[in-house]
Amino acid sequence: MEKKTFRMLYLMATFSAKLFVHLVSAWDYHNESKYWVKQYPDCGGKLQSPVAIEHKLTSYKESKDLLFEGYVDIMHNVTLKNIGHTVAIEVKSEGIVSGGELDGRYIAHQVHFHWGMNDIVGSEHMLNGKRYPMEVHILHYAENYHNFQKASRQKHGLLIVAYFVATSNTYEDNEGFADIVENVKMINFKGNTHTVSSWKLEEFAPINQTCYYFYDGSLTYPPCWETVMWIVYKDPLEISKRQMNEFRTNLAERDVTSVRIMMGNNFRPLQHLNDRIIYRSCDPLKSDMTSLSWSAVLLMLCQVGIFMNNSCFWYLVPHKYRPTEC
Ligand SMILES: [Zn+2]
Repeated sequence: MEKKTFRMLYLMATFSAKLFVHLVSAWDYHNESKYWVKQYPDCGGKLQSPVAIEHKLTSYKESKDLLFEGYVDIMHNVTLKNIGHTVAIEVKSEGIVSGGELDGRYIAHQVHFHWGMNDIVGSEHMLNGKRYPMEVHILHYAENYHNFQKASRQKHGLLIVAYFVATSNTYEDNEGFADIVENVKMINFKGNTHTVSSWKLEEFAPINQTCYYFYDGSLTYPPCWETVMWIVYKDPLEISKRQMNEFRTNLAERDVTSVRIMMGNNFRPLQHLNDRIIYRSCDPLKSDMTSLSWSAVLLMLCQVGIFMNNSCFWYLVPHKYRPTEC
């Protein structure tokens, strides 16, 4: 083959490969339902995320405590990047999660955010019918697969620790978020990066909370691989409205040469739970049941009292506990 022809073929092949990569990576949150599943068949699977969590419909599973190691270690020169869909933080320390229902140790790999352009949307998961204005995801991979790419194709190869973020009613900033929030203005456009001098995972992870939900799911963005063990904390962290607005007003989805589309509402619609069970680590329903049973006893005594023409029965019940209908 002539040298010139060979060179031409080589250039065409390189161009096609680049075009393919561009097309494959060209997804956004504006066309989720229409295009994701066509280009990424796994997005139509039966174990997709996010899902709606209804506390009363979850199953209690007694588990060991989750163990967080290295979350308190300070990371230096942390890279903050606008990746077009979100803000991503590359994790450089050895942040490791184990315990609970996890089979082995999971190494922290990346942190990113999903948020709404107003306070009534933003989180990917929904809890008891409510969406929070933000949800933070800390991606981990199973230590035994050695790297994120390899682990992401294996069952339970990935772990995402998620938590909700609410906006506070006060003007007080959450200092744990400050290093990240104050620097999003440095990464306005897709592809921009900024180095944060020091930061640690613990600063904004709810590692001291004990109540969380866990279930088998997927990545919430293409290619939607169904290899994720999800841990979603019940109680939200809070940041100020000003801090939330830094995310809403500083970031664009595209690079500096393109039309400016502000980044936000970057959450995937809810997916069907199908026959999956969502488990919970804590059991507040037990105390709910106790008060429920107590109310049932009171009501029964009340009705017996009424039936017996208000005779002594419900006088057995201390006054402050008597139902109003007695
Ligand atoms: Zn995410």
